[in-house]
Amino acid sequence: MSKVLDFHPQFDEVLSYHFDSGNAGPHLLLLGGIHGNETCGQVALQALVDEIDSGELPLKAGKVTLVPQCNPWACASNVRYVEANLNRVITRHEAPQNYEERIADIICDHIEKCDAMVDIHSAHAGIGPPFIFNDYPSEENNKLARVLGGTYIIGGWAEMNGDDAVIPTTQDFAHRHGKLNCLIECGEHTDPQAIMVADRAARNALIHFGLIEGEILVPEIEKDVKITGAYIKDREGDFVHEEFRHMQPIKAGDLLAKYKDGEEVKAPENGFLILPFYEAKPTDEWFFYGVLQN
Ligand SMILES: [Zn+2]
Repeated sequence: MSKVLDFHPQFDEVLSYHFDSGNAGPHLLLLGGIHGNETCGQVALQALVDEIDSGELPLKAGKVTLVPQCNPWACASNVRYVEANLNRVITRHEAPQNYEERIADIICDHIEKCDAMVDIHSAHAGIGPPFIFNDYPSEENNKLARVLGGTYIIGGWAEMNGDDAVIPTTQDFAHRHGKLNCLIECGEHTDPQAIMVADRAARNALIHFGLIEGEILVPEIEKDVKITGAYIKDREGDFVHEEFRHMQPIKAGDLLAKYKDGEEVKAPENGFLILPFYEAKPTDEWFFYGVLQN
């Protein structure tokens, strides 16, 4: 055990809540707080735990496990992560090098036991309406993606990375173990609406898999976007327009960013700028690029 962990044993435990209807049916896993400063999933799932626990929301079939705070230390500190981005280390670590690698093992246990996983997140200011990351767009995942309440879906992340360049995310681990999976970005970190979006996503997933009664009411999916490129900032540089936002429509050949040494980064085709990271430092993910599907 590392020195850091010795000082913080209170964060070694990841609280989870398991409910079994006693009837046959799928086992759904709902994750919140993978990133500690994303409160919507933490709040919504904790409230749902109380509702199920009190009998107010009865399960009619299957099982559900809720983990409101997947990264307890980061959640307690209201930071994205403590030592490593938890959603880049979700795999088995025989010799964990930091806090998140240790916690990852617990999340992996939960994912291995479920049939389907929904991972609830929020994003920085200016992100716009809720959307879904459907990294593995199988027929079943596509159905799940459409009931969670995003206004658009971003897919193709895994396909773009290829099988040899796996990035160990919750969705990647779930996919590798044959579990259905989607991730919802519920809006901005501090937007109170994000909690309602997270709550709706969790409930709709429960309805979708037949665990609770209810009707799924969600906004129409406006766009299906496929990620076609990831741009890592490998040296000093800047976006050419400060007003570029997530999902900014871009024309083929438009100048997106410029390195300090003069090299220009241009749009490869008509599409969208995805998750531009203005504070990116060299070696950070700078932005992604995507195109409309179909
Ligand atoms: Zn997140």
